[in-house]
Amino acid sequence: MSMYDMDLDRVIRKINSKDAQIVGLQFPEGLKMQAIKIARQIEDETDATVIISGDPCFGACDVSDWKMKGSVDLIVHYGHTPLPLKYEIPTLFIEAFSNIDIKKDLEKCLDEIKGYSRIGLVTTTQHLHLLNETKDFLEDNGKEVILGSSPSTRKGQVLGCNFSSIKDLDVEVILFIGSGNFHPLGIRLFSNVPVLALDPYNSEIRSMDEYADRILRIRFARITKARSAKKWGIIVSSKEGQYRMALARQLKKTLEDNGMEAYIILADNINPDILLPYFELEAFVVSACPRIAIDDSQMYKKPLLTPQELEIVLNKREWENYQLDEILFHERYK
Ligand code: SF4
Repeated sequence: MSMYDMDLDRVIRKINSKDAQIVGLQFPEGLKMQAIKIARQIEDETDATVIISGDPCFGACDVSDWKMKGSVDLIVHYGHTPLPLKYEIPTLFIEAFSNIDIKKDLEKCLDEIKGYSRIGLVTTTQHLHLLNETKDFLEDNGKEVILGSSPSTRKGQVLGCNFSSIKDLDVEVILFIGSGNFHPLGIRLFSNVPVLALDPYNSEIRSMDEYADRILRIRFARITKARSAKKWGIIVSSKEGQYRMALARQLKKTLEDNGMEAYIILADNINPDILLPYFELEAFVVSACPRIAIDDSQMYKKPLLTPQELEIVLNKREWENYQLDEILFHERYK
């Protein structure tokens, strides 16, 4: 059995109800190995022809509607929940919930949270279905459990670029369910309480304090190096949900007002190779996905900063007010 619920019945129902003849499938990297099996099942059970998107896909900010425009009647996008964006082609979002039993992990968790009574609970798309069970378990064990909400996400959900659901939560500790460091790092930096990350794939429970300190030291070093840069690149992604040209133009103006040169570079996928030709530029600000500057930092020779980090370089923000960058999707069309 797959580790994820790919909800094929729902996909088939949607294809039939829309009478879709050509269906585009889009998967994040971790689910791409399921693509052929799913394409085969769809083509066996419906009249539709499937086109699999071969491009990388990082989030619901990145639905390949403009690339598939004219080629498909329906897109099935796996692994993410929809964002408040205008998707041009009918798109079915399949969350791909994990088939994981976390009962034992929750028992273990009680030890880690025994000193706390008010607990914030948060997760990513793949484990949203575990929130109710986790909340009930913690409440049965005498805890008060709070789930935050936001206009860009579901209740108790954070994205790598949007932590609005945990801001101002009146809790003593936050329990994050999910894998990887980026989401719990963001939660740690956006909240002023300890964060415990429970990884249901390896049953590990860890505090985020040490990791957050390490990342902040790296960010401090990048910011310090960028202080001597006079020629900057401002990177914009053409992906619908990451496209922040107004912000990029504002950053360009700010840099120029401070006596620097600044050039806007527009690209679909951001990676070190696309920046190589611009050898004159000494540092970059990323207005695209906020994870790029932090997660991929070691891949870039020159400092790659977030807009908030540029504010620190220009002495418009105190280091003590360090914050990760966020995309407030619900404000995009205001
Ligand atoms: S902008 Fe980045 S973090 Fe946000 S949804 Fe897209 S890929 Fe994920």
